[in-house]
Amino acid sequence: MKTLIISDIHANLNALEAVLADAGEVNQVWCLGDLVGYGPQPNECIERVQTLPNFECVIGNHDAAVIGQISLTAFNTEARTSAEWTQRILSKDNEQFLQNLSKVVIKDVVTLVHGSPFDPIWEYVTDTYTARMNFESMETPLCFIGHSHLPIHFRLEENGEHVFYEVPKNGEPVIIKKNVKYMLNPGSVGQPRDHDPRASYAIFDSEEKLWQNFRVEYDIKSVQEKILNLELPRRHAARLAIGY
Ligand code: ZN
Repeated sequence: MKTLIISDIHANLNALEAVLADAGEVNQVWCLGDLVGYGPQPNECIERVQTLPNFECVIGNHDAAVIGQISLTAFNTEARTSAEWTQRILSKDNEQFLQNLSKVVIKDVVTLVHGSPFDPIWEYVTDTYTARMNFESMETPLCFIGHSHLPIHFRLEENGEHVFYEVPKNGEPVIIKKNVKYMLNPGSVGQPRDHDPRASYAIFDSEEKLWQNFRVEYDIKSVQEKILNLELPRRHAARLAIGY
């Protein structure tokens, strides 16, 4: 069973299409939240993901803010400007789609969350201390996380003593071992923040017990033009080119 893992699309349809083309045929697609925010095509992205096979998705903080589940005061001025614009242009059906998303989805041995198992909406897991706290909250051996926009792996060894941290290389396989707990981040489709501007995603094969992170180039200029033409914050266009 080949599963495409995507996260933090952030209304970037060009990046999403590049990822779907690069990933090829998959059995299912799981998304770790933040379909909207920052980018210029929120309606198109929400409609596109619904065409994907066996699509599952959890809610992200930007999705929650756009539908009024969390306050926009938690966002910086530019993120808020983009969220308010998204609120104005989002179709009723697409708003309803976001309303129906859960904070946590469990698929067999895998928990899907946007932030962390402990705080699915807001917490960033970017260090081994936070990872260790979160391994204690995990009910499944695997947890797939987004939110930081960083492709990172954390693992807790069988004896529970050490938490390891790795930044994956493009295409490098991670073999999922028995009795080891993992928190794995596919990185961000639509707004990478690891200084690599290419769209980021992962493939999880549940039979082969294999996870692989991948990067793919997309037409960044086209997305920048759309952001600027809509008079959305210029910084959200500029950062795409530097991957931050
Ligand atoms: Zn995000």
